Amino acid sequence: MRILVDMDGPLADYESSFLAIWRERFPDREWISLEDRKEFYIHRDYPRDLWDDIKQICEGVGFFLNLPVIDGAVEALNTMLSLGHKVILCTSPLSSYENCVLEKYQWVDKNLGRDWVNRIHMGKDKTIVNGDGGYLIDDRPIIEGMDTPSWEHVLFDYPYNRITELSYKKRLTWENWREVLEI
Ligand SMILES: [Mg+2]
Repeated sequence: MRILVDMDGPLADYESSFLAIWRERFPDREWISLEDRKEFYIHRDYPRDLWDDIKQICEGVGFFLNLPVIDGAVEALNTMLSLGHKVILCTSPLSSYENCVLEKYQWVDKNLGRDWVNRIHMGKDKTIVNGDGGYLIDDRPIIEGMDTPSWEHVLFDYPYNRITELSYKKRLTWENWREVLEI
């Protein structure tokens, strides 16, 4: 089976990195804990006058490269491969691509190893990636694009995607992924 795996969220800990930098850089400003996050895009949970500072952190040199690996992610990916599944790292770069694109490749090389670099599929529209009836594991609540997806979207669980209207979708973490996907 093909298993497409999103990077930010399922593999790379975007949330904790952002929050650590935010609180260090602006210790007197408000901050929102992960449990209280409601919107997929971090800046949308904050007042508009803070959006530029938030984006500057995420677009900054080293932000993507230094994201920690989510617990259990590496083991899960390697297990998928060992079970014979075709795993693709399906990631969408920021429109402000200057640091993000290169650093996503470097992140994979650093944390997963060189062989995994060949499994990166980077593009804005994930619906045009042929999932061949398999899965896309992604924390984004709704994934739209120009095609009808050939994969089933499985939510990687985060507080901001716990939305009642999405309760029909499968939801997993790296602790229960094999039960949820029944593989
Ligand atoms: Mg993501």
